[in-house]
Amino acid sequence: MSDEELLALAAEYGFDCAAPMDAAKLEVLEDVRAACEKNLCGAYNKTWACPPAFGDLDASRAMLAKYKRGLLVQSVQTLEDDFDWEGIEALGKRHGENFARLRARIRETWPESLALGAGGCKRCKTCTYPDAPCQFPDQMTYSMEGFGLFVTQVCRDCGIPYNHGRGTMTYSGCFLLE
Ligand code: SF4
Repeated sequence: MSDEELLALAAEYGFDCAAPMDAAKLEVLEDVRAACEKNLCGAYNKTWACPPAFGDLDASRAMLAKYKRGLLVQSVQTLEDDFDWEGIEALGKRHGENFARLRARIRETWPESLALGAGGCKRCKTCTYPDAPCQFPDQMTYSMEGFGLFVTQVCRDCGIPYNHGRGTMTYSGCFLLE
């Protein structure tokens, strides 16, 4: 599938912005993982898709090294004001649903693809971690930050902004394909 076809796929699945990714540019950073370990999001050590479940940063590097290209996708919303919680919630819901639909489509073409998003995996109401294996490994979304990826830089390297300006909110995620 060409880059143009990937971008068309992202638009077809409802994403407002997308860019092809060069996986060679992905940089695994100690500082990002260290921030993750502070557990400000509350997901650290809570799911199979967050650290420390999938190992140290060398394990992240080894997983990322299997890929050459990917697709970055974003959902962008203009908010009514800084306290537009309904708008933020609606954006999160839209992004999550579109991401799950696109993940299913992508796995048809790339069964070994890797889905990465912001924060921990939200597929199940309660993650089986650490008592039993992941129930839906093909539907799991790994944490970009957990992999040591600085999302702002990943977006920049793809040529699109992490933030689309004052009064807007953006959710980002990506798929490593092959
Ligand atoms: S798919 Fe479910 S069991 Fe697997 S990591 Fe995500 S939340 Fe946990």
